[in-house]
Amino acid sequence: MFQTTIQEVVSAEGVGLHTGVFGHLRLAPAPPDTGIVFRRTDLDQFAIEASGRNVARVSYATSLMKQGVLLSTTEHLLAAIYSSGLDNVFIDIDSIEVPILDGSAEPFLRLLEQAGTRRLRRRRRYLKITKPVEVIEADRRIGVYPADEFRVQCYVDFPHPLVGQQQIEMVVEPATFRDLLARARTFCFERDIEPLRSMGLIRGGSLENAIVLTDDGVMNGPLRFPDEFGRHKALDLIGDLALLGLPLLGRVEAYKAGHALHTQLVSRVLGDPSNWTITTGTERPAEAPALAGAPALAEAPAAN
Ligand SMILES: [Zn+2]
Repeated sequence: MFQTTIQEVVSAEGVGLHTGVFGHLRLAPAPPDTGIVFRRTDLDQFAIEASGRNVARVSYATSLMKQGVLLSTTEHLLAAIYSSGLDNVFIDIDSIEVPILDGSAEPFLRLLEQAGTRRLRRRRRYLKITKPVEVIEADRRIGVYPADEFRVQCYVDFPHPLVGQQQIEMVVEPATFRDLLARARTFCFERDIEPLRSMGLIRGGSLENAIVLTDDGVMNGPLRFPDEFGRHKALDLIGDLALLGLPLLGRVEAYKAGHALHTQLVSRVLGDPSNWTITTGTERPAEAPALAGAPALAEAPAAN
């Protein structure tokens, strides 16, 4: 299995969910062993690696910070890139926040399909979990356990007639992400809108980029899936796991977790090298289907 990047430069633009700042986004091919790297084009191409060591404050979205330079709401774009099996991508952006677009990962996935995939002549390296790592906070928890594939189990439980208990369990590969998670949108509760606004958040939020839940229903239906909320939480989880910096071989179980717990898990895993080993996976015949599952991304010709 070889590393990949994208074939063509692609771009998008839009408003950031929390800052309300309008930004331009450009995805560009990157050489082997680059990983996924944000570059602030408004700050002399300042690079911020999509890595657990650059996680900044995390509450309603995941933000990266390096030497005081901030980049917010990375999770939906990173979920699309990470699930697509792309190892190396430059993400050029001229603002402080990734555009929210429609609140899901689908527009990013479309961009990646438009860009195509290019195989590089360097073996892919996987981060393989070798022992359980867990983070527990009251009734919320998250853990990662040894496995030969990348699997997530995500449980949500919100006291709302349309949400309640929802559970997603899947092997993460391009086809499952595209079919099961990519279209699931961000959501918020109507009663939280004013408090969030007064905290300086969701300034770019609208009925076009987030599902708004009223006390007993949804303000801007229809939902894309009956369990769109649980699916979106799984999407967020995968986007935060991208901060591991390498494709994961492990099973992640998240129970009522969120960005804070996701990123704590990433930091805890990376913080102790006895938690993982790096493998090129050459002995794993199970890898072939992961790429075959994404025809639009896999058909691009091999190149160096
Ligand atoms: Zn989200």
